[in-house]
Amino acid sequence: MDSSKKLLESNSSGSDKELASTSVNITDQDSGLPSSVEMNDTPAAQSAAGEDEDEDIFEQVTMILRKRRGWGPGDLLEDDDDELVEEDDAGCPLPSTPEDTQLIEAEMTEVLKAGVLSDEIDLGALAHNAAEQAEEFVRKVWEASWKVCHYRNLPKWLQDNDFLHRGHRPPLPSFRACFKSIFRVHTETGNIWTHLLGCIAFIGVALYFVSRPTVEIQFQEKLVFGAFFMGAIICLGFSFAFHTLSCHSVEIGRLFSKLDYCGIALLIMGSFVPWLYYGFYCHYQPKVIYLSVVCVLGCLSIIVSLWDKFSEPALRPLRAGVFMSFGLSGVIPAIHYSIMEGWLSQISRASLGWLILMGLLYILGALLYALRVPERWFPGKFDIWFQSHQLFHVLVIAAAFVHYHGISEMAMYRVTVGECTVPIEPITF
Ligand SMILES: [Zn+2]
Repeated sequence: MDSSKKLLESNSSGSDKELASTSVNITDQDSGLPSSVEMNDTPAAQSAAGEDEDEDIFEQVTMILRKRRGWGPGDLLEDDDDELVEEDDAGCPLPSTPEDTQLIEAEMTEVLKAGVLSDEIDLGALAHNAAEQAEEFVRKVWEASWKVCHYRNLPKWLQDNDFLHRGHRPPLPSFRACFKSIFRVHTETGNIWTHLLGCIAFIGVALYFVSRPTVEIQFQEKLVFGAFFMGAIICLGFSFAFHTLSCHSVEIGRLFSKLDYCGIALLIMGSFVPWLYYGFYCHYQPKVIYLSVVCVLGCLSIIVSLWDKFSEPALRPLRAGVFMSFGLSGVIPAIHYSIMEGWLSQISRASLGWLILMGLLYILGALLYALRVPERWFPGKFDIWFQSHQLFHVLVIAAAFVHYHGISEMAMYRVTVGECTVPIEPITF
């Protein structure tokens, strides 16, 4: 138990005086049973903790540790020649195997020693609430000491991409542990950071844009761009949250995967708004019709996203297909726009050029995502970095920035052209 040792070391070096005052003597040579924790001077502690009670606490903590183990040794598949030192094939969530009683007892002793030394376990109060204190302490030690594991040792609900072999997070049934895992290296590290940084970047751009004086950018334009910023920030934020919390539990993982897909639908909807607004600036009827169609398609994709089975690994191509066809439905207003403005007009070339580049980036991202390339070709070689999902994340951010540039150019064009020369058409059916 590295962390408890560290805890032990840091405490024994830093708080000698404290130790002397509570008179707790701990010898490393002892067999490792809690009876080695002796209390000499404190009367309350003397009366509270006899050998029997120490044994009780030990039993309780052992039970807690055993209970926290998500699955038994029967779930493990046969071993192969694993060379990764960090890998703990013998059982993901905890450092020792359940049947190895000696090892677990030694670990328990380390945990309890560290607990007493660091004041996490209050000896005076042991008689009253030993189990709660011990559980809280074991939880802390465990959260700090989990190890990455092999795909085959993951519970079924965490098995998503079998081309990624090593470096998976075990189930971490605490929000704090999940958020702390952001700073550890595992299969989700790249996914978490790409969209966390992308989200922060878009919040920065959005704040800059919205805080411009009204003479520079009008309120209505801020609103239209705001739809796109909201879509991008929500999408990247939900994606960051999903990748951080996916290993929490079945329920939390499922909830956040639904939010992740809803975020993609919102990003696509938000991207359409400024494009349709500036593209059909003086053509009210097609603008309203296209915006309505986008809303309906967006709502449909959100409804599909909320379907429980939608997040299953087998439906990966369907997921890519749903969002790709939603995005590609933009081809229809794009063709309409080009006919309206003339294929070779300056504005057509400028705005359509960026739109096509954005489309290509999204399509490439969706293809990598659906086909799981490159890890499909080199299984186990892209476990931590450059796996398909990370590339997809980076392409989504690149596409969103390309789109931002494209709609900015369309807005600039509108400013230079001035208000509509043709009267705003009423809607006629
Ligand atoms: Zn993702």
